[in-house]
Amino acid sequence: MSRLHIFIDGSWLFKVASPQKVLSSKTEHPTQAVAIDFKKLDAALLKHVQAHNPECVDIGAKFLSTSVFGLPADFDVWPARYPRFLHDNIEQTKRAVYAREKFVETAVNAGYSDAAVYRPPLKDWMLDKLMSNQFQEKQVDATVVALLVRSAIIHPDDYHCVLTGDADVLPAIRVAYPEYSKNVLVAATHPDELQGKHRATAFSLNAFRFRIPPLYLQDHVASIIRGNHVYECAHCHKVFARPKPIPVKARPCCAPCNLLRS
Ligand SMILES: [Zn+2]
Repeated sequence: MSRLHIFIDGSWLFKVASPQKVLSSKTEHPTQAVAIDFKKLDAALLKHVQAHNPECVDIGAKFLSTSVFGLPADFDVWPARYPRFLHDNIEQTKRAVYAREKFVETAVNAGYSDAAVYRPPLKDWMLDKLMSNQFQEKQVDATVVALLVRSAIIHPDDYHCVLTGDADVLPAIRVAYPEYSKNVLVAATHPDELQGKHRATAFSLNAFRFRIPPLYLQDHVASIIRGNHVYECAHCHKVFARPKPIPVKARPCCAPCNLLRS
């Protein structure tokens, strides 16, 4: 009997679930973020491990690492204090922080530890970088590696899954835990997307021999999206959720295909 421990780079998962990104592109509304059901995600990962070892029957520790900015009390008056910021920048930042906060809350409600959630207070230079899309989150990938390696050393007979889009974490895992191939696995979005951030050190997932192959989340959107009644469109294969079940005999049809057909 063994367990599966899960370590999520939350900044990456939040991003790939965002509008117009790889996970949302698999749903009927690509312009909306995919609401991830973390319990379903756990179950999908466990099922993937069980296909290789049916003795893995339980979920162990679960961590989601990301950062959520703490907004200053005077944030609303920043445009008066720093004329380079517009009221719109403030509102946009508030919405982004709120969305990230909700994402973390959903994971925590599903049993994820928020011990690795960083809450840096937002400074004006950070907002400059955010607005020019140059803000780099630094600690998240290193934290995920540290948590996974600690877990693998303490529980060598369990499985340890890292959810990441950054292949640069793999050499670090291999150095710190050389036995990684037997019980560490990766969940990513697409083999081509799992590339190192830094071109010069771009590691390919293929260079690593995992006994359990990677799980590609874009193939499992129907299994991880929130909703009691989830379907795949019979026509375009996009995923959608409905509050009520579709009658068994009806072919499931997504909203865009429905519009085309009416
Ligand atoms: Zn469709």
